[in-house]
Order: sequence, then structure tokens, then C-alpha cells
Amino acid sequence: MDGATTMTSPAVLILLGPPGAGKGTQARMLEDKFGLVQLSTGDLLRAAVAAGTEAGKRAKAVMEAGDLVSDDIVIAILRDRLTEADCAKGVILDGFPRTTVQAEALDTLLEESGQKINAAISLDVEDAAMVTRISGRFTCGNCGEGYHDTFKAPAKDGVCDKCGGTEMKRRADDNAETVASRLEAYHAQTAPLIAYYDGKGVLQRVDAMGDIDAIASALGEIVAKAQ
Ligand code: ADP
Ligand code: ADP
Ligand code: ZN
Repeated sequence: MDGATTMTSPAVLILLGPPGAGKGTQARMLEDKFGLVQLSTGDLLRAAVAAGTEAGKRAKAVMEAGDLVSDDIVIAILRDRLTEADCAKGVILDGFPRTTVQAEALDTLLEESGQKINAAISLDVEDAAMVTRISGRFTCGNCGEGYHDTFKAPAKDGVCDKCGGTEMKRRADDNAETVASRLEAYHAQTAPLIAYYDGKGVLQRVDAMGDIDAIASALGEIVAKAQ
């Protein structure tokens, strides 16, 4: 990408954090700044659900309930996506891995392709902030830019700042009832990955309770150093 800071070898960055922590928001900013590719397993799964694929059919009800989709489905979807040519620019994994089984599968995939994890960055937020962040979330249906009713409203109501699109979407699972199960899944199955990556010496922690731009500059510094 023009003007993007280039990295010496294709980077593999992981964004860890509970639902609503800001992983998607920050991943898109890192994409722009470093020319990396955001890989969101949530987005890939929602696309599979919309396309009505076999994996999508199996994932739909699980996602609506706020539980984790089975490791075999998610790993297969991510493995396929990683073989696409654009991933040679380096990737930011947003929402993957979410279980130890997924983390181990990722290690194997990277080993096979001679790559390594540059950094696993945990976005640390208080559970109390999650309901507010998730219930106010919406995205542009055209370009995928993320917004929030209070914290990141578009300059003109209902119009995307990035592309001028006017079709804003809210996710079916972004409601107070599923937030509880999603947080529970995070604490039980995903939070142990903080220790997993600490053990590998690639863990970085960022206070993600501040404003979006302050967090973006903290992440930018980490990523620039993590080549
Ligand atoms: P995740 O991908 O981790 O689930 P998102 O990036 O979608 O989280 O952010 C969840 C919601 O919170 C979105 O509506 C987003 O605009 C908003 N948001 C993201 N980061 C912050 C922040 N630092 N402070 C306040 N709101 C935020
Ligand atoms: P959020 O960051 O707000 O939790 P995502 O878009 O990352 O949202 O995920 C939405 C849903 O998709 C999850 O609640 C889960 O059901 C499913 N999902 C996404 N990524 C994974 C994953 N790596 N493993 C299992 N399920 C996943
Ligand atoms: Zn848009």
C-alpha cells in the first residue's frame, strides 16, 4: 500500500481480547498503517453463514447463542484463507486463535510455511465495558468500517465516513443476552492463551480502556518493533 510502513518479512500478529475489546477496530487501523491483511474468523464465519455453506449451516446457531464454533470448522476456514495470495503481505489475526487447540493448530500451520508469530497482543479491558461497547456497535454494510453509537459515531448520521455508504448493519449476536455467554467463553477458553503466548515470549499487553487513537498508537509502536 502507498505510504504504508513496510515490514521486513511477512508479519504474523495476533490480537487477543474479549468480545468488544476493539480487536476489529484496531486491526483495520493496523491494516492501513502497515499494509497488513486483517483476518477475522468472525467475519469469515458470518460470510459462510450468509453463503449457506456446510460450515456456515453448522456455525449459525452456535454463533447466535454466543458459544464458540467448533475448532475443526474454524481451523479449516482459517487455513484456507491463509493460502490466499494477499496474506503474503503479513496478517493480523483478529479473533483467532480462541482455544488452545486452535493455537496449537496455528503453530503447526506456521511451522509448515516457515513463518513465526511476531507478537500476540492482548487488549485488556474490564468486563463492565463490554456490554456498552457491544450494544452500541454497528458497521458499514458496504466497506465494513466499524462504528459505535456513542464512542465512534460517523460525522454525518447514517453515512459512512470512509465510503459514503448508507447501509449500516448490526450483528444478530450483539445483544445483552449473548454478551454474557461470549464473555464466559472468553474467560474459560480464550484467556488461557495469554499465558500460552507469554510462555513463547511473544506476548504484549495493552490497556484497551482508553480512547481508540491512544490505543492505536500504543499498538503501532509494538508492531513497528515486532518485525
Ligand atoms: P472486537 O472486534 O474486539 O469485538 P470492535 O473493534 O468491534 O471489537 O469494537 C466494539 C465496539 O466498541 C465498536 O462499536 C467500536 O466502535 C467500539 N470501540 C472500539 N474500541 C473502543 C475504545 N477504545 N473505546 C470505546 N469504544 C471502542
Ligand atoms: P467478537 O470479537 O465480538 O466476539 P467475532 O466476530 O470475533 O466477535 O466472533 C463472533 C462469533 O463467531 C463468536 O461469538 C463465535 O461464535 C464465532 N467465532 C469467531 N471466531 C471464532 C474462533 N476463532 N473460534 C470459535 N468461534 C469463533
Ligand atoms: Zn463504508
